[in-house]
Amino acid sequence: MNRKQRRLEAARLKKDFNAKSRAIEEKISKMPDCCDECGAKFNKNDSKILDSWKIAVYDTGEINLICEKCTPSDISTIFKNDPIKS
Ligand SMILES: [Zn+2]
Repeated sequence: MNRKQRRLEAARLKKDFNAKSRAIEEKISKMPDCCDECGAKFNKNDSKILDSWKIAVYDTGEINLICEKCTPSDISTIFKNDPIKS
């Protein structure tokens, strides 16, 4: 591999990396900061809220946040793998 080819390869890898971090940033910016049902504020620093609120992430990348009060007791087990805590 000569010097010119190495430069091209490095530029290509950097472009891939930038595209990936942009996609992650986009997901985080789409993360709701309040309950989808009642609009209650979600505080990421409150461990009680992290334990009681439910988060649903769909294949489309859409994220739904539901507070403790708006979560029907019969669906609480569906979201037990909370992505925020892992
Ligand atoms: Zn709510």
